[in-house]
Amino acid sequence: MEQVAVTQEPSPRPTASGLKSRGPAQVVHSVDTEDKVVFITIDDGLYEDPELLAFLTDERIPITAFLTTGTIVSWPYWKGLEPVGSIQNHTVTHTALPKMANPQSEICDANEDIVEQAGQVPWMLRPPYGAYNASTLAAAGRCGLDWVVHWSVSLPGKRLEYQTKQAGLEPGDIILTHFREGLVPALRRAVKDIRRQGFEVGRLEDYLTPRGRTDDQTDSLPEMAMATQTESRAVLVPGS
Ligand SMILES: [Zn+2]
Repeated sequence: MEQVAVTQEPSPRPTASGLKSRGPAQVVHSVDTEDKVVFITIDDGLYEDPELLAFLTDERIPITAFLTTGTIVSWPYWKGLEPVGSIQNHTVTHTALPKMANPQSEICDANEDIVEQAGQVPWMLRPPYGAYNASTLAAAGRCGLDWVVHWSVSLPGKRLEYQTKQAGLEPGDIILTHFREGLVPALRRAVKDIRRQGFEVGRLEDYLTPRGRTDDQTDSLPEMAMATQTESRAVLVPGS
């Protein structure tokens, strides 16, 4: 018997996202792969850098953005980044989920907001502050999400910081940073470091794939031409 649900919570009502309740989401700190890839995830921060999209496009860097409902609704900047990454769930109000009696509403409602605002169905959750417990994983699953994405490396300032005692990057490392001042130079340095260590930046969406979705739900994903990093420079910006 699994001990997951602390409280009995109602099943999610039918929603626009069409996401169906499932078993507990799986938490990952890094992706289980032998490929020499690492992943860049950027969380809400509200700092608008006009150079970010050009940098990501020129360097062929895919990102995954975890945004709260508040950010998605009030901060249109993220729409410019859709060509280089997907928008995933960071809850409605950025509350630490283990402290909540009913974390399900924070997660399910954010799914609906992403569908409404971004036109894509999320399948990953980054819990605010990285805080999660068994109830969080169960709630994420009940909201139809597959993965709770933690991180193994962060980029809080100018340099990569390893969360464990690893000496350098390891295959599948997930890097956390935020939309913040100084992000572009920090990423520039980080990408140089990543490549110097023999890694490329991969597309997290290719490794943590949605499970059990219908074609309808995955069709709405933005086209990203960056999966094959080493191939010719693909045109990434629609219309360019
Ligand atoms: Zn956050």
